[in-house]
Amino acid sequence: MSLEADRWVLLGTGGTIAGQAAQAADNVGYVAGQVGVAELVAAVPTLGGLPLELEQIAQIDSKDMGLAVWQALARRIAVHLERPQVRAVIVTHGTDTIEETAFLIHRLLRPAKPVVFTCAMRPSTALVPDGPQNLSDAMAVARHAGAGGVVVVCAGQVHAARDVAKVHTYRLDAFDSGDAGPLACVEEGRVREFRPWVRQESDPLRGANALAPFLLASELPRVELVTSHADAGGDLIRSLLVMPGERALQGIVVAGTGNGTVHQALTDALHEAQARGVRVRLSSRCARGRVVPHPGLPFEDAGGLSAIKARLALALDLLEG
Ligand code: ASP
Repeated sequence: MSLEADRWVLLGTGGTIAGQAAQAADNVGYVAGQVGVAELVAAVPTLGGLPLELEQIAQIDSKDMGLAVWQALARRIAVHLERPQVRAVIVTHGTDTIEETAFLIHRLLRPAKPVVFTCAMRPSTALVPDGPQNLSDAMAVARHAGAGGVVVVCAGQVHAARDVAKVHTYRLDAFDSGDAGPLACVEEGRVREFRPWVRQESDPLRGANALAPFLLASELPRVELVTSHADAGGDLIRSLLVMPGERALQGIVVAGTGNGTVHQALTDALHEAQARGVRVRLSSRCARGRVVPHPGLPFEDAGGLSAIKARLALALDLLEG
């Protein structure tokens, strides 16, 4: 492949990185998803002159992310990754649900090429916005010879889609990869790897099998997320089981206490749900660590995923049958 043929694709979805506030000193009272992707790129001198194709997939606050935007995004990422001249895809996204979208794309496509998500904690109108630096760093990762798979780049760190979580409401370095730690950092436009970057073998068969039902779906199987806590009860679960509506409950992820323990009252209700055919998976509400599998676990283990990602994984498993 000649160097001239190489291209990068940048897909915009909105978020704070594209946000605007009435005053430059206001880092919280802004409206997300206002600035178009061309304007975001124009604010980053390091992107000037690069063969970059731009597409605006959506313009939303990522708190409102849902199936329609996910489908549009997954479809376009898949199309671009198939093109031999495209080296990588970059996605700008809000921080609130970036870990869900990145995990979804990882789970659906398992791309060998890099798919680099980036974001910002301050709107584009801030006195010192962080978006331009994050976008510049994302491009450095997208051009890095050793990069591959779905990652999230923020505040100079590169996180794997499976591990990353938003852990702070306000700080610029709002993301963390838990026990795994970040994959790499970006220093002055150079990527420094901290640990072996697990690269996927591109698996077109798996991609097609997972993507087709997702793109055709009119809705995702209904999976609810509940948390175990002191004084928990089973009423919420029992209400869900009898609730009329078009989307019957198909799955529950329970964020257990500690190493996957669940209040007895909630456990009883979850067993009733299982008896009615609802799939129940167990994660932990702890910010760090994973549920260490052992024979006494009350429900199917979520495989070390956070409760948020376990909810999505179960919905996709149910969709794929
Ligand atoms: N609510 C915003 C969003 O997720 C927050 C952000 O981007 O930082 O779109």
